Amino acid sequence: MKRSFVVLGGSGDLTGRLLLPSLAELYQRGVLDEAVEVLAVSQQDWDDEAYRDWARERLTAHAPDLGADERERVVAQLGHEHGDVTSPDDLRRALARVDGVPVVYLALPNTVFLPTLTALREVGLPEGARVVVEKPFGTGIEDARQLNEVLHGLVPESGVFRIDHFLAKQTVLNVLGLRFANRVFEPVWNAQHVDSVDIVFDEDLGLEGRAGYYDKAGALRDMLQNHLLQLLAVVAMEPPQSLDAATLQARKSDVLRAVQADVATSVRGRYTAGTIVGRELPDYVSEDGVDPARGTETYAEFTVTVDNWRWSGVPFRLRTGKALGTRRKEIVVRFKPVPHLAFADEQPEPDVLRLQLSPDGIALEINLNGAGDPFDLEREVLQTTSPPQDLPAYGLLLKEMLSGDPTLSISDVEAEQGWRIVQPVLDAWAADDIPLVDYPAGSDGPA
Ligand code: NAP
Repeated sequence: MKRSFVVLGGSGDLTGRLLLPSLAELYQRGVLDEAVEVLAVSQQDWDDEAYRDWARERLTAHAPDLGADERERVVAQLGHEHGDVTSPDDLRRALARVDGVPVVYLALPNTVFLPTLTALREVGLPEGARVVVEKPFGTGIEDARQLNEVLHGLVPESGVFRIDHFLAKQTVLNVLGLRFANRVFEPVWNAQHVDSVDIVFDEDLGLEGRAGYYDKAGALRDMLQNHLLQLLAVVAMEPPQSLDAATLQARKSDVLRAVQADVATSVRGRYTAGTIVGRELPDYVSEDGVDPARGTETYAEFTVTVDNWRWSGVPFRLRTGKALGTRRKEIVVRFKPVPHLAFADEQPEPDVLRLQLSPDGIALEINLNGAGDPFDLEREVLQTTSPPQDLPAYGLLLKEMLSGDPTLSISDVEAEQGWRIVQPVLDAWAADDIPLVDYPAGSDGPA
């Protein structure tokens, strides 16, 4: 069946920086047999040629290794329709232009998802159409429920792709291999042996000109509610019987249902001016497009418990922030100390397993006798490093959307559970029960 992408928000950063370059990569690697038509819809007053010029420039900037032939292969398939995506008439006009069964991609600000899907439902989609919704999936639990309701009236759940591109990252997929294709980890993957789990996504970049979106979202909605909870789900879920979409999504949903946030542990921070490796960053609130009155956080942290037999009593700490001094993206599983130490040494640091994202790798920190005195313990690190991911995350996701396999997308239940978990924290922050604290750019975050 011939497919066409209809990208609502086709003039945005996501389309120019990730979607079009990823599509080009699929051509370059011979993953797609034939070129795929892409119709972009935005409020820019562009005809097809003007859009192609914009896309050429984006591809040159963001896919510099692409040959001119591949670039032109993408560009030749592009068209642009001026319109408001919340208007049924404009959507009808855009959909009438494409040849293939549409994959409608909402590359839009999350605040526009609901009016756009409502308008789409009024227009209707042909049999076999698919709908892709970017993250974050709405703005809160009520919005997510309404989005799911409208989506279910538009296409079957199997035709909905709720994007969380972290699921298409190599390290995340490696967690499945590590846990379920080896005998050694799963027997100790529980509260009896694991002391705590940290899921950390510290960025050394600031706002990077994205105030329009970020200042309305903040760190908690942008990163924690979706990406970090998906990492938690993959780390904490029960072994799946197979790796098909329904089974994986069901196992992740089960564990998310057991997660409870501890509001009192939450930390809400916002960066002030500072220096990161020679780069000076201004105060977040003085960045173009930021409204200081919104009190948007650029740092979010809290601890959750997973209330089931496997994880009872094990804290999972989630944290993410912008403009931090050190870039650190990893899942850290800390094990408990050995029950009895026969060595004369003091109790050594317990074992630590680090699942590292970007660069991808796995490090196991353990205690060995080491060199020298055979009864002195030394810390050793067993480290793997993975070569760069074969297909970038968005390439893998586009391929799945075209083939109709939602394994790396999230289900309706997961999307709502993500919001259910963070909602008490959002409410406490909105009521100012947890103060917004400053931290200088380049530091370790709030004290
Ligand atoms: P963006 O740069 O602000 O682009 C938003 C797009 O939506 C523009 O093309 C804009 O077109 C269009 N748009 C907004 N309202 C519209 C309306 N009523 N009618 C027609 N078009 C409308 O945002 P973005 O960074 O591309 O992000 C898009 C989505 O992707 C967001 O959900 C974001 O969370 C997600 N995402 C982005 C990234 C990233 O790196 N950028 C990464 C992961 C996920 P006009 O300007 O013409 O209005």
